[in-house]
Amino acid sequence: MNNKATHKADILVVEDQLDNLKLLSNILWDEGYQVRQAIDGEMALIAIDTKYPDLILLDIKIPRLDGYQLCQTLKAKETTANIPVIFLSAFDELWEKVKAFEMGAVDYITKPYQAPEVLARVENQVKLSLLQKQLKAHNNILQRQLDLTEAAQEFHGQPQIDAYLLHQAIKATYNGIIITDATQSDNPIIYVNPGFERMTGYSLEEVKGKNCRFLQGNDRNQPEILYMKTCLQEHRQCFITIRNYRKDGSMFWNEVSLSPVKDESGKLVYYIGVQTDVTVRKRVEEERQRYEASVQKMNQELHELNTKLHRLANLDGLTEVANRRCFDDCLEQEWRRLSREEKPISLILGDIDYFKRFNDTYGHLQGDDCLKQVAKALSKGVHRPADLVARFGGEEFAVLLPNTPAFGAMQVAQKILEEIRQLQIPHKASQAKPYVTMSLGVATVIPSLDLPPKTLIDTADGYLFQAKNQGRDRAIDGDSP
Ligand code: GH3
Ligand code: MG
Ligand code: MG
Repeated sequence: MNNKATHKADILVVEDQLDNLKLLSNILWDEGYQVRQAIDGEMALIAIDTKYPDLILLDIKIPRLDGYQLCQTLKAKETTANIPVIFLSAFDELWEKVKAFEMGAVDYITKPYQAPEVLARVENQVKLSLLQKQLKAHNNILQRQLDLTEAAQEFHGQPQIDAYLLHQAIKATYNGIIITDATQSDNPIIYVNPGFERMTGYSLEEVKGKNCRFLQGNDRNQPEILYMKTCLQEHRQCFITIRNYRKDGSMFWNEVSLSPVKDESGKLVYYIGVQTDVTVRKRVEEERQRYEASVQKMNQELHELNTKLHRLANLDGLTEVANRRCFDDCLEQEWRRLSREEKPISLILGDIDYFKRFNDTYGHLQGDDCLKQVAKALSKGVHRPADLVARFGGEEFAVLLPNTPAFGAMQVAQKILEEIRQLQIPHKASQAKPYVTMSLGVATVIPSLDLPPKTLIDTADGYLFQAKNQGRDRAIDGDSP
């Protein structure tokens, strides 16, 4: 490699201290390099995008994007990843160097600059970079030869497969094929096949020289388009499905595969787009999604209906505690379970005192409201998950306490009486108290399968009768005097 070639290299110097920038630039100019200058990270990015430099000398401490960030940005993009970067810094610290090399730097120059050192390092990198470029070009040529050999092998024994035949194949395919010129600024179409013409209704003459975006009409707000743009910028292949519009204005779903084509030097020259009209498939998919959504909605409604039915079957409509049917089922179940376990079950039967008079005094609606409040007070009196408060009938309630001995049941009964008293619902016609009260009968038994559960109800009812007779507003059980 001769010196002339290396001295023509285009070097971007990024440095915010102007005297340093000048010094460095002069050293390089004197040696015949082309030098461009930037004083911050953003300016450097613009300079790089305008024309890729052969080498970048990059100060670490620069305003806006710092040197490390800038270097990382360059290394992350395919088009700039191979531009060699030499870091410049006043620090001679080891970790600074290590970080620089981690970020992808190829070398490191420490300030203050010594012309011979700067030149030696720069020249070294320029030469290396040129060698790498040559190697890459050579590789591209080899790859192309390999592709041709592979293609030849594919058509082995069919030497008549030539450009004409391949062109016939492109003409015959049902898919649309577009070729655009990537070397021109707006990537214009240079070829479309008859498949494209059939699919879109546009002829080759009508679309030649245009950018493909006209196929999207005004429907530009599609996320896939943004993704395609990114791929185009990064010279990557992409596979997307977007809404396109035919010449007659009708929409079709276009499944597009876009592939970049590079020349021997690795420069992007064409894009080839292969399109398939997938409108029918999309419609079927959408239809299926709609169907699945409606099935899901129906299932949800069914579930809600079931829950509602379950509530209706088991809850009392007025007071929203369990109804009689639920109580009977529950008692039946617990009776069997506790017979096996030989554990006690308690039942509190409660009846509102002088409730007929309450209705007569305050009206039936007020009576209903009183029942609701009493039901709530009863629910507050119990705590275990297995305890059940139920409306037994009319103004009578039952509280079932599985696994609860007489002593515990009496405690619950007293708590319930207190909760009801605390409601302080006025009842001027009551002969017990000037507010609503309740009488409770409390029965406890260790159940047996030989006895029907009704015995527990009868016992509790007997004590309730006693409570009424002894003056109401009280709880009576087997131990009561
Ligand atoms: P005691 O203290 O002896 O229990 O007297 P009582 O008046 O409460 O007893 P009785 O059995 O004579 O009357 C019960 C009343 O409860 C009769 C009925 O009108 C009323 N009742 C029953 N179910 C409902 C209901 O759902 N709503 C309303 N408002 N009242 C009801
Ligand atoms: Mg009654
Ligand atoms: Mg009553």
